Amino acid sequence: MKDHLVRVATKDGTLRATAAVTTELVDAICRRQGTDPTASVALGRLVTGAALMGSLLKGDQRLALMVEGNGPLQKLHAETDAQGRVRGSVKVPVSGIAPGEKGFDVPAAVGRAGFLHVIKDLGLKEPYRGMVQLYSSEIAEDLAYYLTSSEQVPSTVALGVYLENDGRVSAAGGLLVQALPEGQEALISVLEKRLIDLPPVTTLLRDGKGPVQLLEALFSGIPLGRSEETPLVFRCTCSRSQVLAMLKSLGKEELQEMAAKDEDTGVICEFCKEHYSFSQDEIKALITPVGNTETP
Ligand code: ZN
Repeated sequence: MKDHLVRVATKDGTLRATAAVTTELVDAICRRQGTDPTASVALGRLVTGAALMGSLLKGDQRLALMVEGNGPLQKLHAETDAQGRVRGSVKVPVSGIAPGEKGFDVPAAVGRAGFLHVIKDLGLKEPYRGMVQLYSSEIAEDLAYYLTSSEQVPSTVALGVYLENDGRVSAAGGLLVQALPEGQEALISVLEKRLIDLPPVTTLLRDGKGPVQLLEALFSGIPLGRSEETPLVFRCTCSRSQVLAMLKSLGKEELQEMAAKDEDTGVICEFCKEHYSFSQDEIKALITPVGNTETP
């Protein structure tokens, strides 16, 4: 099944939900990052969470999630846009935490203390920035806690990543359910109970069920409006000109140091690991001559 998400709202407009399958993009991101199994699960969850939250974006809006914890992974990053393009990275891809009897200890890899940062570029002058302390470091609960406490939208998030013995991601996906302000308490509690009874997302995906079936199981008997589907893909937004602009922002001193070296300057994109190389002349051209800083 190709990665995609499906978004629905109840006919009475009191609840909305998004379900996603993210297997291919999580696998692509983990391969590029060179993650060990526990790191793959942690990063896969964050990437899937970003894809789900991205379903609420419109037009050119972008969303970035960053988890900064005191565990071995240090910093995890996931970004997406309204078109379902997703990328992700992890600062230290090897957690060194072997899976135990109960599965993957994501909180140990992320760290039990830390922060979740949410940055939304909504096309306004300044991006919106939100931050909460990590709630359980399991990622799904942290996102739900952020949405409920910071954005004031009661939310439930379920995220799953299933790995084969060789570490390959064979199923990944998730579910986001949100109650809108006029939501009926009774309906919400029905949904909460169903969510608890629902098998893990990865079990459903491995049984060949997709986002539509996931939502059908959850909302059975509850009238729904028209559903919307968005394909999800791994896509990095980096480019040579963007890397050059980043280098330029480093400032004159650092650039002069680079230009003085007897070799090309190499930059590796943290997300897709693409390698960009710049000659000394290209670096020199970035240095604005003294006294010529003003545009004519
Ligand atoms: Zn890139």
